[in-house]
Amino acid sequence: MATPQRCERIVILGAGFGGLTTAVQLAKRLGKREGCEIVVVDKCTHHLYRPWLYEVATGNAPEERLKSGVATPYEDLRTHLSGLGVKVEYQEVIGVDWETKSVKLCDDRGLPFDHLVVALGASPDFYGIEGLEQHAVPMYSLQNALVVQRKLVHLVEQKRRNEIPFIRILIGGAGPTGVEFACEAAQFMKTQVRKKMLGASEYSIELVEASPRPLQALHPQLSAWAKTRLEKLGVKLLLDACIKGAHKDHVVLAPRPLKPGETMDMLVCDFKNENQKEVTTDLLVWCGGFRANPIMKNLGVTLNERGKIEVDDTMQVRNMPGAWAVGDCIALFDPSAKRPVPQLAQGAIHQAELAAENIVRAMRKDPLARYGFPAMHALVPMGGAWGVGEVFGIRFKGVWVWPVRLAADIRYFLRTLPLRSAWKLIRAPLTVFRRNNL
Ligand SMILES: Cc1cc2nc3c(=O)[nH]c(=O)nc-3n(C[C@H](O)[C@H](O)[C@H](O)COP(=O)(O)OP(=O)(O)OC[C@H]3O[C@@H](n4cnc5c(N)ncnc54)[C@H](O)[C@@H]3O)c2cc1C
Repeated sequence: MATPQRCERIVILGAGFGGLTTAVQLAKRLGKREGCEIVVVDKCTHHLYRPWLYEVATGNAPEERLKSGVATPYEDLRTHLSGLGVKVEYQEVIGVDWETKSVKLCDDRGLPFDHLVVALGASPDFYGIEGLEQHAVPMYSLQNALVVQRKLVHLVEQKRRNEIPFIRILIGGAGPTGVEFACEAAQFMKTQVRKKMLGASEYSIELVEASPRPLQALHPQLSAWAKTRLEKLGVKLLLDACIKGAHKDHVVLAPRPLKPGETMDMLVCDFKNENQKEVTTDLLVWCGGFRANPIMKNLGVTLNERGKIEVDDTMQVRNMPGAWAVGDCIALFDPSAKRPVPQLAQGAIHQAELAAENIVRAMRKDPLARYGFPAMHALVPMGGAWGVGEVFGIRFKGVWVWPVRLAADIRYFLRTLPLRSAWKLIRAPLTVFRRNNL
């Protein structure tokens, strides 16, 4: 293979799973000696390790510890990436000027590029439901998790002082995010009961889901196990039900709309004979789905009808040589599974590795490699050292999920961090998870 001919600037937008992996892989592949400049732009100063976000939302640790030790286990991005020779800009991206090939930053500066990688992720989708964005806390960012944590602690304090009669937590969406959070919230409340901060019958956790089963995107066996576990933890499932509107202290629920050929009797919703039902809430957490990051509209790239960037299987943006995109912001169809590639960190990492490889190939004028659509694994921790999972078609539940999940965490840390920093983190989850186990 010939080496690249001239110094080229690669700008990576976003330092989440996709952006960070692209930057690290490019730095490893190109090395400093080839003179290529790699610049990462992110509006945040830390890489958010989302799979640990529930620990923040339901943790008892002081905020600083939570911020630096749990959800964002990396040092600030600039320190983390400087050792690899990658430059970092802490700035919000507001657009791209394709004529001058430069990224528009919110401080009015332009950042020129030869190759652009878009890895700006997604944002919570409130589906236009009345009052939802205003009254619910989505489980998405570190700030969201800290708001939930403060609110939980505050509610327990209020109950302890008898300022409120009961604590009612409602979670919207029983996908992996909603299910994991519901279980962690249940563990949190049980811990409060154990500490005699509140009585066992003084709170409720309800999980609303529009489908007839939790984890409906996963195998029905996993849903059945998850349902049993949720019930065991005292989480009430409201299935085949939708949130129609959210207000300061209550939500309006309704049986989900019928599909063609369905009758009301077919719904498992336990209030199916009521047109709608009002439920009081002290805390509404929204885990109902994600949509494209609204900034996509300003990037001047080809988007699908859902506002996601259309890429081909080399991770290049369609009809835009030199533009690449990975992660939650892309629309990529898996022909063998006959569905779009799901929005997962695992996918973002695979796509980022391929994008890094192909940028180097493009610079060397070598043929580009194609995405192999690797199998996605499902590992859903469900409170304490327990979970449900499916890896390479093998489904399992119980404590076995933890070592597999830990192995996935370790693999990621080792790929994106120097060995010493990775080791520090590898020890951290053991402590974190033990803390929440009952
Ligand atoms: C609570 C939760 C738990 C999850 N757990 C798992 C899990 O266990 N396993 C799994 O595979 N997936 C999990 N996911 C999904 C996973 O987090 C996403 O698929 C993954 O983060 C996508 O990576 P990304 O790089 O595309 O986007 P992100 O990781 O979201 O990164 C996007 C980056 O872009 C930055 N950014 C956004 N807009 C701008 C802008 N205008 N200017 C500058 N910077 C900007 C953001 O600050 C961020 O750093 C979870 C998701 C959630 C919400």
